[in-house]
Amino acid sequence: MLEEFRHLSEFINKIDVHCPNCAKKAVIISDPENRNRTRFTCAQCGSSKEWIGQGNVVLSSKSKLAGYLGVHVGIPTDPYFGFSLWYAAIAKEEVLFAYNLDHLQFLEEYVTDKLRKRRPNEHGWSNQSLQSRLPKWLLSAKNRDTILAKIKELKSK
Ligand SMILES: [Zn+2]
Repeated sequence: MLEEFRHLSEFINKIDVHCPNCAKKAVIISDPENRNRTRFTCAQCGSSKEWIGQGNVVLSSKSKLAGYLGVHVGIPTDPYFGFSLWYAAIAKEEVLFAYNLDHLQFLEEYVTDKLRKRRPNEHGWSNQSLQSRLPKWLLSAKNRDTILAKIKELKSK
């Protein structure tokens, strides 16, 4: 998987999506120990679906293979079923997306520099290495205001 997508795999255990049936907010829960236990449920219309994929293999969008049934990150759909994400918007001609509120929070903290100021802990520079995997357009200071405005919009969605 490409480095810039690797951080995404930390947020794929609970994903907020648009229900493909009623378009309202629905959720996908996945077991990180066994991706074959991944389930979509919509509390609004009662839809549900079990994921039938290929276990714990994770691919980025740029390594997409036709017909591949694995976990798919790096594109603004959920990595299992390909449903559209609840938290997605266009910012600076790029697609800003988050799998859930924790992910959105992470992006906001990153863009506002909070994570970059953290000190190393007993585990070393774990956050530092996480940041270095983010896409470059997110790192750009000139995009900051636009991206933060979009993140705020999405958080209140
Ligand atoms: Zn629904």
